[in-house]
Amino acid sequence: MSSNIPNITLSNGVEIPQIGLGVFRVNDPQVVVDSVVDAVKAGYRHIDTASFYGNEAAVGDGVRQSGVPRQDLFVTSKVWNNIRGYQETIDQFNRSLSLLGFDYLDLYLIHWPAAGYEENWRAMEDLYHAGKIRAIGVSNFEPRHIEHLMASATVSPMINQVETHPYLQQNEVHEYCEINHIVHEAWSPLGGGKSDVLSDPTIVDLAAKHHKSAAQIVLRWHVQRGEVVIPKSVHQQRIEENADIFDFSLTPEEMRTIATLDRNGRVGSDPNHEAFLKRSTTYDNQNHK
Ligand code: NAP
Repeated sequence: MSSNIPNITLSNGVEIPQIGLGVFRVNDPQVVVDSVVDAVKAGYRHIDTASFYGNEAAVGDGVRQSGVPRQDLFVTSKVWNNIRGYQETIDQFNRSLSLLGFDYLDLYLIHWPAAGYEENWRAMEDLYHAGKIRAIGVSNFEPRHIEHLMASATVSPMINQVETHPYLQQNEVHEYCEINHIVHEAWSPLGGGKSDVLSDPTIVDLAAKHHKSAAQIVLRWHVQRGEVVIPKSVHQQRIEENADIFDFSLTPEEMRTIATLDRNGRVGSDPNHEAFLKRSTTYDNQNHK
């Protein structure tokens, strides 16, 4: 299957495929490799990992086994909360690169706005200028975090990756990003397997009407809002299904109907929750995605 997934152009001209494969909580290296290979077969050209996921080496292996040249794939990684400081960030970036077996990254993100992120950014700007990263961005940043970052930054973030799905539409972040030429990237775009988004009667009705699955309706909604989405699945059929959303569209009225489902239904951690941001290295499965 050849790729019909469109690209979105970032503020620096770099193109990011609008659908990527998420690999969070995929711990078995062989399953990671198989998912990446299946995704590339299904037309994906974009994989989202993080140092925190502990699977960068397997993502790199999947990329090499996919049969598609490295330069035709877009790979993201992220720096975790326990790494703050200029040199620490450079060292962590080099560790990620070495685990992936790459000589550059397409996108590097600050995973959460834990205190000290200005120093991460300073290092990331230098890595960006040195050609080691094609685009840099942030994740889980509220507008006030971006404003704070911009007070000392010389390069604006190109992406903000935040939890987004019909039960947490992030309209304020979305609008802020749009005004500031930052692409909104949705994590847990399907509700992370933790919410009832995919069984919501409105979504299920639209799925029946369009002869699509609930997941396809939700992903189509994101895409029509101009977001990048990174749905995670370890099942080939779902990986294919999640990319097969470019042969139909939702009407403006259907988009407005889905807009009414917004309910502050967060499934992951809240970036306004300072306690989480201070808990630098631990990861609470109950409270954090
Ligand atoms: P998600 O993609 O919204 O949902 C994944 C869940 O939905 C899994 O349980 C998956 O199960 C299931 N699923 C996938 N496709 C489906 C389909 N077509 N029909 C029904 N169920 C389906 O959640 P997520 O993994 O939390 O988020 C996606 C990616 O975002 C992550 O993998 C990660 O790369 C990124 N992320 C980033 C952050 C951050 O802080 N920046 C946080 C969380 C996640 P199966 O695998 O069994 O198919």
